[in-house]
Amino acid sequence: LFDTQPPPWELAAESDCEAAAVVFSEAPFGPFHYKIPTELLGLIEPGMRLRVPLGKGNRSVQGWCVGVETSSLPARSLKDVLEPCDESPLCDPRLIKLVLWMSHYYQAPAGQVFDALIPAGVRAGAGTRQQVFLTPSPRALDDEQVDALPSKQKSAVRHLLAAAKPLTAAQLATLAECTEAPIRQLRKKGFLSAETRRVLTATGPLHSVRDRSAVQIPELTEPQAAALSQISTAIESGKQQTLVLHGVTGSGKTEVYIRAIEAVVRMGKQAIVLVPEISLTPQTRHRFQDRFDDVAVLHSQMSAVERHYHWQRIRSGQVQVVVGARSAIFAPLPRLGLIVLDEEHDASFKQDSVPRYHARRVAYVRSQIENIPLILGSATPSLETWHATSTGHATLIQLNQRIAGRPMPHVQLVDLRTPGERSGGGAISRPLQNAVRETLKEDGQVILLLNRRGFATTIQCPSCGHVVACPECDMPLTHHRDGGKAVCHYCDYQIPTPPWCPICKFDGIRYSGLGTQRLEVEVKARFPDAKVARMDSDTMRRPGSHERVLETFRSGELQILLGTQMIAKGLDFPNVLLVGVINADSALHFPDFRAAERTFQLVTQVAGRTGRGNRGGRVIVQTFTPEHPAIQAASQHDYLQFAEKEMLQRRKYAYPPLGSVARIIIRGPVEETTEAFADTIVERLELSRDKLSAEVRILGPAPPPIAKLRGKYRFHILLQAADSTSLGETIRQAVATLKPVAKDDIQFVIDIDPIDM
Ligand code: ADP
Ligand code: ZN
Repeated sequence: LFDTQPPPWELAAESDCEAAAVVFSEAPFGPFHYKIPTELLGLIEPGMRLRVPLGKGNRSVQGWCVGVETSSLPARSLKDVLEPCDESPLCDPRLIKLVLWMSHYYQAPAGQVFDALIPAGVRAGAGTRQQVFLTPSPRALDDEQVDALPSKQKSAVRHLLAAAKPLTAAQLATLAECTEAPIRQLRKKGFLSAETRRVLTATGPLHSVRDRSAVQIPELTEPQAAALSQISTAIESGKQQTLVLHGVTGSGKTEVYIRAIEAVVRMGKQAIVLVPEISLTPQTRHRFQDRFDDVAVLHSQMSAVERHYHWQRIRSGQVQVVVGARSAIFAPLPRLGLIVLDEEHDASFKQDSVPRYHARRVAYVRSQIENIPLILGSATPSLETWHATSTGHATLIQLNQRIAGRPMPHVQLVDLRTPGERSGGGAISRPLQNAVRETLKEDGQVILLLNRRGFATTIQCPSCGHVVACPECDMPLTHHRDGGKAVCHYCDYQIPTPPWCPICKFDGIRYSGLGTQRLEVEVKARFPDAKVARMDSDTMRRPGSHERVLETFRSGELQILLGTQMIAKGLDFPNVLLVGVINADSALHFPDFRAAERTFQLVTQVAGRTGRGNRGGRVIVQTFTPEHPAIQAASQHDYLQFAEKEMLQRRKYAYPPLGSVARIIIRGPVEETTEAFADTIVERLELSRDKLSAEVRILGPAPPPIAKLRGKYRFHILLQAADSTSLGETIRQAVATLKPVAKDDIQFVIDIDPIDM
C-alpha cells in the first residue's frame, strides 16, 4: 500500500498548490498565503472571509481572501486554510481592486479597508437565521415510488419538483396545503435532501414605496437640456469620463442628474448618487423615489439589519439607484453605469478615521475600474475639481442661471467695524434687524447662519484673565445655557459652568464670544412674535429631529431658522426671502490653506437658500473684513473671480491642487516621548526622501492647532510635494519598519490629502 504513494518530500518539492492570499484587519496585516486543502478546492473565492491560523501560536483568525492562485512556494511551507466563513464572496473582483487601490494610496491595511467597505451589519449577518432548505433526492424522481406514497406526501413531492428551487418545510407546506407532518415523513423515507443555509429573515417596513401618481416631471430648460446632452454622450460612449457640473444654486442640477440616471436605467444599468450626510433629507430622497421604481437610500441612522437588507437588495441587482452619504460609494451594484457626487466640495466626503479616504477620489477610481462616467456637481466646486477642468482631466458643463429666470439674490455686506451698525452690543446689526422685521411683515421666512454652537465661546475672568479650558484638550470651554454646562467642543468634556473664577475666586466671571444659543436668545427677544427654531448638533442629537424641524419650517409654522452650517446646505424653501450671515469671518482666520475656500463656499451656499421662489430674496452678510477676496466674490456670486485669485495663492505655495499634501499625526500621553518619536519619524522621512531623490518638503514636527486632544499630546508632520506618487513612496518607505511604541502608548496615523490642517 505504501509503495503506491510517492514519498512526501517529493510531493513538497515538485508540486505547486492552490493558495489563497489573505489580508487581516489587525497586525500583522498580510497578505499571507495559505494552502487550500483538497476538500476546500473550488469552494474558496476572492472576496470571501476565511478562517486561518495566524502567528506563532497559530491563533485562528478571520481574514479576507484577495486572490486565489497557484503558489510557486512548496506546499509544505504553507499553512492550511481552516474554513471559508462565507458561502459566496462579499466583494466582487472590481471592488477588490478598489480595496487594494485604497489600501495602497491611503496606506491603510487592506483588511481595515474591507471593514469600511462591507457594512458591519453585513459582516455580522444581522437579521439572518440558519434555515433548512429541502430539495428532491433521487428517490423523488422515481415515479413508481412516488405514486406509492400516501396522497399528502405525494402532493408535497410533486410541489417541490414543480417549484424547481430549494424550499423550507414551511414554504412547501403552504404550497402543498398540508401540515409539516407529511414533509417530515418524506425526509425520514429519504425522498428529500436537506441543507442548512443562512438567510436574511428580517421583514417589515424596511423600505417604503411612494405613491408616484401625482409626480410632475418638469420640462428641461435649454441650459439643462444642453448639459444633459453632453452627459448622455458620455454615458453612451461607454468609457470613463469625468464631467463637472458647475451650476449656480437653484439652477436645477438635480433634475439633470435624474435625467442622466434615467438614461442609464434605460440601458439596464444602475447609478450611485452621493450627497453630504446632512442633505440626505426626506426632500432629497423623495426627488429620486418619485422618479425611479427602486431606490435604496443609505443613511447613518439605519439599523444594522436595515443596512444588511438594502445591501442584499443592491447586490442582487434589483435596485436602480443608490442615494447615500460617503460610504454609499461602495454600494455593490452589479451593473454600475454612472456615479454622481452632488455638492462635491463638501467636507463630509472625507472620512476622518482609517481608512481616511475622500469619496471624490474613490469615486474617480471606481469610475475608472468600472469604465463609466462620473459627474461632480456643485455651485462652488473644490479647487481640485476646478483645476481638473483646466488640465483636460475633466469636462466642464455650466448652468449659469437659476430656473425660471429667477435672479441671484442681492447680497449686502455690513461692515461690523462701523460703530453705528452694531446695535446695543448684540449679534444682529441694524440693517439685519430692519431686514428681518420687513421680511416677517411680508410673511416671508428668514435663515440666520452662525457657525458656532453653544452660548458663549469663552468663559474668562475679567480680574485675572484666566480662561476656563479643557484639561484634556487645552481648548477654551464653551458655555451652554441649558443645564449651565461648560463643554469642550473637541472631546465633549463637561463641567458645571463655574460661577466664580476657579483661580482668583473673583465673583463675576464673563461669558463672551457668540454661539447659536445666545443668538437664539437675542432673536427671540428682538422678534417676540416670530416662531424661532435653532438647528445645530446640540438640538439635532435625536434621530429624525433634523427632518422634523425642516418639515415645520417648510409648512410655514416657523418664521426664523437659525443654526450652524447645517442650514447652509441644499435646502430648497421658496418662501425664504432673507438670509443673514452673522459672522462671515468665523472660518477665515484658521491656520488652514483652505480657510478662504471654506468661507467662500459657506457664504455662497447659505446665500443660495433664498430667492428660490417667485418672491425674490436677499442676503445680508455681516463681516469685519468686507474687502476680503473670498467675501467679495461670494457677495457677487462670482465663482470664477474667487477661483482665479485663490489658484494664484495655491500656486505660490504649491498647495493642492498644484501639489500634494500629506500629514502624519503622532499621539501620546507624555509630551516629551511623543515628540521624540515624531523626531524619529522625521529622520526616517528625510532618509527615504534622499534615497528616492524625491522633491518632498518635510515640515515639523509641530504642535497642530489642537495640540492636545482627549488627554493626548499631538504632533504633526506635514509633507508637501509636486506629485502624490513620490510623496506616498517617501512615507511608505519611511514607516515600513516603524511600529507604534507600545510601552509609551504612542501611535501615529497617516493622512493622505488631509482636508483640515
Ligand atoms: P440646484 O441643485 O442646482 O440648487 P435644484 O435641482 O434644487 O437646483 O432646482 C431648484 C428648483 O427648481 C427645484 O425646486 C426644482 O424642482 C426646480 N426645477 C428644476 N428644474 C426645473 C425645470 N426644468 N422646470 C421647472 N422647475 C425646475
Ligand atoms: Zn476637550
